[in-house]
Amino acid sequence: MSGSCNFCKIVSGENPASIVYEDDNVLAFMDLHPANVGHTLVIPKEHWETIYDISEKVLSNLFAVVKRISVAVKKAVGAEGVSILQFNGRVAGQSVMHFHVHVIPRFRGDVMSKLMGAMLGPTGFEKAERKDLDKIARKIRRNL
Ligand SMILES: [Zn+2]
Repeated sequence: MSGSCNFCKIVSGENPASIVYEDDNVLAFMDLHPANVGHTLVIPKEHWETIYDISEKVLSNLFAVVKRISVAVKKAVGAEGVSILQFNGRVAGQSVMHFHVHVIPRFRGDVMSKLMGAMLGPTGFEKAERKDLDKIARKIRRNL
């Protein structure tokens, strides 16, 4: 628990939230600034800041819940797809420094389409050279 953390305050009940799921380790609630209707956040109840420091056990347990929430959100709002987003560090877009996973229902032509297309779509970036991909893959493997 971190004293000034808004998500810890949701866990403790000090701050209000629209809860969709809770167990001993995980809490899921509606994002206050939804990208689409049904945008849900899934968090560990323990205060972990980023994917770098979160325990693998907590994370795997949390992602099992992310799966279940994704299915439920998709059904609940009749979404055509679901985007799972998770940010680490302010430079990456993390605004609350308590590990969280965004479950965002998606609809054809929604406001996120352009953003996501530029970020992750096959046409958003130039195709890389195989030798460059092999080189960086080797570098990442050395850091595992
Ligand atoms: Zn926290």
